[in-house]
Formats: sequence, C-alpha cells, structure tokens
Amino acid sequence: MPSSIEISDLTKRYGQFVSLDNVSLSVSAGEFLTLLGPSGSGKTTLLMSIAGFTRPDAGSIRIDNKEIVALPPHKRNIGMVFQNYALFPHMTVAENVGYPLKLRGVGKAERDQRITAALAAVQMDRFASRNVAQLSGGQRQRVAVARAIVFEPNIILMDEPLSALDKKLREEMQVELKHLQVRLGRTVVYVTHDQKEALTMSDRIAVMRAGKIEQIATPKDIYEAPASKFVADFIGDSDFVPASVVLSTGDHALARNFLQAKLGSLRDPIFVLRPEKIEIDTGADVSHGALRLSGTVQEVLYQGNALVAYIALESGQVIRLQRGTRTSIMESFPQAGSPVRILVHEKDICIVEQEELAR
Ligand code: ADP
Ligand code: MG
Repeated sequence: MPSSIEISDLTKRYGQFVSLDNVSLSVSAGEFLTLLGPSGSGKTTLLMSIAGFTRPDAGSIRIDNKEIVALPPHKRNIGMVFQNYALFPHMTVAENVGYPLKLRGVGKAERDQRITAALAAVQMDRFASRNVAQLSGGQRQRVAVARAIVFEPNIILMDEPLSALDKKLREEMQVELKHLQVRLGRTVVYVTHDQKEALTMSDRIAVMRAGKIEQIATPKDIYEAPASKFVADFIGDSDFVPASVVLSTGDHALARNFLQAKLGSLRDPIFVLRPEKIEIDTGADVSHGALRLSGTVQEVLYQGNALVAYIALESGQVIRLQRGTRTSIMESFPQAGSPVRILVHEKDICIVEQEELAR
C-alpha cells in the first residue's frame, strides 16, 4: 500500500545557514513527486529528513496521518536509494539486497525468496552471487533500487539515483524506474537537478530554491506556467523580454490593450519567450491576441535535430527561435541578415515578474 506524506513548516539549520526554510509539502499516496533545484537548494536535506537520517530543528512530518519526525529510520518503512548507491563493497549482490531484511529480523528462507523477487524486478536476478565491485554503474544502480524495495516499503526515496550514468543509459533508466514505480504502486519522492529527468518522470515537481519550495505543479504547468523568473529560467530554455520594451515598439498599435490586460497588476512584468514556442509571422494570422516583435536574424545554428535563429530585436536584445530540421522548414528558414517578424500566440504567452537571478 502506498502512503501519503504531509510535511509542515519544516526547518533545518546548520549553524547560521538555513538549509530548509519552513517547508510545507503534501505527497499523495502513490504519487511520483520530484524535488528539483540547483545544487545546495536543500533537496537532499529534505529527503534525509523524510528518511530519518537528518533531524529537523522544527516542523512535522506525518505519514498516513501519523507523526514520525522523532522515529529512527528503520521504523519508518521507507526505502532509500542514496546519491552514491552506498552499496556494501565486501558483500555480494544478494547480501546487499538482503541487508534491510536481516536488519528487520526476517528469516533466511523468506529472505532468499524476497531477494530473488526484488532482483527480478530490476532484471538483476542472474547477478545474485556477484560481487558488487564487478558491476557496472547501471547494474549497481539497479541493485541499490532492489535493496530499497526488498522490504516492500510504502514510500521510496531516491536521491539523484541516475546522476552517475551516461546520457543514454540514464534516459533508459528513467523510463524503467517510472514503470517500476507504477507497477509497485508506491509513493516515490525523487531528487534530481536534471530538469528533463524531472519533466519525464514526475506526476508533480516541487522546484526548490534556497531551502524553499518555489513552485509545485505538474510538469506541464511548471513548464508552461512558471510561477517566477527563477522557475522559467531553471526549466527549459527561455529569453526574457521586459513588457516595457514590448509595449514601446511600433508592433503593438492594435494589440496594446490586449497585452496590457494580460499584464494585469504584475510588478515589472517580463515576457518569457521559449525558443520552440515562437513562430515566424508570415502575415497570415491577423489576430490581435498575439505578441509580435520585429528584428533581424543575426545567426542561424544547425544542431542536427534543431535549427536555432538568433534574432536581434529593435531594442538590441537577442532572442532565440527554434525549429525542427524537416527539409521544408530548412528551405524556407530565414537567413542571417534578413529582417524577420516573430509571433507568439495568445495561448503561448507567458509572463513573470522581473527579479535578479544569481548566476
Ligand atoms: P542539494 O541536495 O539541493 O544540493 P543539500 O540539501 O545537500 O542541497 O544542502 C543544502 C545546503 O545545506 C547546502 O548549502 C549545504 O552546504 C548545507 N548542508 C547540508 N548538509 C550539511 C551539513 N551536514 N553541515 C553543514 N551544512 C550542510
Ligand atoms: Mg543533494
């Protein structure tokens, strides 16, 4: 049975440094929730607090409505895959996977049966008697997952489990782990700093920044409707054009009212322009409900699966427009030096407030 997690006002300090700043978060039973954020934003601290390896200074963690903040890790019924796998190097694969069962006093016969089942779930049953040192990175990762699920925990926590793998294997394992989670029907809290991984695997993503949750939403909402410039910048590619710049160009005589209504009462609004959501304005669409800007193509880069045009706007700011590389697109794509008008359809217009981002 999957469990729900309810975290309220969780704070953790290291000296003066606030690693978790009054974090509240609910995870539903059976949900795949990802903590996504830059290095140092508090992801591991939050995960370790749920697991019981870190003791928060204040706040509460409830699992299925029971307070567990003071319980030791092995009494929480939570499986954990650590960032560096943390397998025991002097043990075989089977011994590693059986360790949590031994810890819980499960007898040998039942242990063997459960080890086999857990290893089968990650397609590692043929490797039971191998030494951990003889395994590849991907195989170790599978063993770590088997060890986390072997005692059938209601919650599984994973801290950047794929970060040591190369891109191709990482992408395969993303799909595999997601399928495993669905098959086991368990609640998963997953940590990554890789935005594409988070978008691919999660039911919801919590974007963390400096010990706080900046936004929590479905992958689609995080990408299409970022709550802040930080989120828009961290996830996907974006260029930011201040609304003042857009409204001061000659392109908006007709759309000015429409755009002003969109801006509402936002302080210092800026438009988020995603390179793949911008179109070249051919003049065919005459609706006033769109964002239009003129510029000059500075450079076109061919990237195999994409063409990227760098377009200098009249304000001097450069934005990117991205298209696929179908022959028909390539043949009609604007050349460097040519003037171009771009258009963002109403449904793709995204606005956030200006803020300074630390780089
Ligand atoms: P993330 O996993 O998002 O990279 P962490 O949760 O590991 O971030 O760390 C958040 C912040 O807390 C970091 O600035 C880190 O230096 C600090 N921190 C984490 N653990 C400790 C510790 N044991 N002692 C001192 N500072 C720590
Ligand atoms: Mg971490």
